[in-house]
Amino acid sequence: MKRIVIKFGGTSVMDTRRIERAAEIALAVAADGYQVVTVVSAMGHTTDHLINLAQDLQANPDPREMDLLLTTGEQVAAALLTMAIQAKGGKAKSFTGAGAGIVTDNEHGNARIKQINTLAVENCLNLGCIPVVAGFQGISDANEITTLGRGGSDTTAIGLAAALRAERCDIYTDVNGIYSADPKLASTAYKLDTVSYDEMLELALNGAQVLNPRSVEIARNRNVPIRVRSTFEPTDRGTLIISQTGQKSFTGIACNAEKDCIRVIFSLPSNANKATSRRIRQKRFARKQFLLCLLSAAGIKSETGNSLKHTAHELLFCVDKAQTNAAMSVLQQALLAGEQLRAETDLVKISIVAAEISSACEVSAILSLTKSSIPITLVTRTTRRLSLFVPKQLREEAISVLHAQHSRLRQAA
Ligand code: ASP
Ligand code: MG
Repeated sequence: MKRIVIKFGGTSVMDTRRIERAAEIALAVAADGYQVVTVVSAMGHTTDHLINLAQDLQANPDPREMDLLLTTGEQVAAALLTMAIQAKGGKAKSFTGAGAGIVTDNEHGNARIKQINTLAVENCLNLGCIPVVAGFQGISDANEITTLGRGGSDTTAIGLAAALRAERCDIYTDVNGIYSADPKLASTAYKLDTVSYDEMLELALNGAQVLNPRSVEIARNRNVPIRVRSTFEPTDRGTLIISQTGQKSFTGIACNAEKDCIRVIFSLPSNANKATSRRIRQKRFARKQFLLCLLSAAGIKSETGNSLKHTAHELLFCVDKAQTNAAMSVLQQALLAGEQLRAETDLVKISIVAAEISSACEVSAILSLTKSSIPITLVTRTTRRLSLFVPKQLREEAISVLHAQHSRLRQAA
């Protein structure tokens, strides 16, 4: 029999009426001839609410206790959805992550799935029953309850789909698919019919909120097709995420406000001639590598790139905002006479994602922002992503300009 995993996000199980709607979807999919496994997030903003309660008592609560607390959110939703399916005449049974055989490592708050023992869930399916699994959680080898990181119900769903060899994993959410940009920020944004795993991973890692990046990684490694679709428009086919789409020139734009840029400026001797400046450049290169190594040894992940005003006499890179202070103090301690350190914290990272990023794409993106008088602090690039750091207050304008330009390119391709 065909198998499918369907996952409902927090807004899809916000209240009991919505839980009934989710139950109807699960029953309709089962009536279509599928063995259905359902995964749920916590109702609405439950997780945030529980985090606030904990922080009312302690600034840094014990991660073990946090996991015990937060996993209750998904358990409430799983039990209620099971009741709603039963009330509509269906057979269903709820499972905690541990009950569904999800074994993780011991990293409380951000555990990774090590294996899934699917026996209990398969037994349930074989009895013609719908398993309803509480997302976002598992159990460690040491029998401790763990959580999989924010948005971790996606990881539960896609992990289960891989382990159960499901035909697909459908992620039911409050939007009807993946868009080429946030429609609230770019009026020309459109829904994508298909996106490749690699491009989806770039979008998810760079600010697109719809899917947890780790879940996309599992889907890519285990080749699980994902459909992102709306609980409120169940006939809309949403966006299918698969290995290849054939679309090269432009996929979408993501935006992330959680990065800062850091600059180390080296002084240049005023009497430098051609020969000495070559030597200085070489020394600078070694110095930059040394400083980047220091950061990496301190567990700080940096991403380097170019800036329009970039010279050999400065080191420019970005880090996660959460690591800015640590990076500044590592560098401050290593600073030599004549070197200056500066953090730029009012920026957003706008990322253009495509199956292939060409140099022409980089040049045209820089030109169009410059033409619109939007200053660019840093440009970073991988094979599938071009990121531009621009002032936060120009975020909307920059996204609009880049989106309009790139969607034209796509149409022309
Ligand atoms: N409830 C958890 C969160 O808010 C997990 C999830 O929704 O996927 O992060
Ligand atoms: Mg989510």
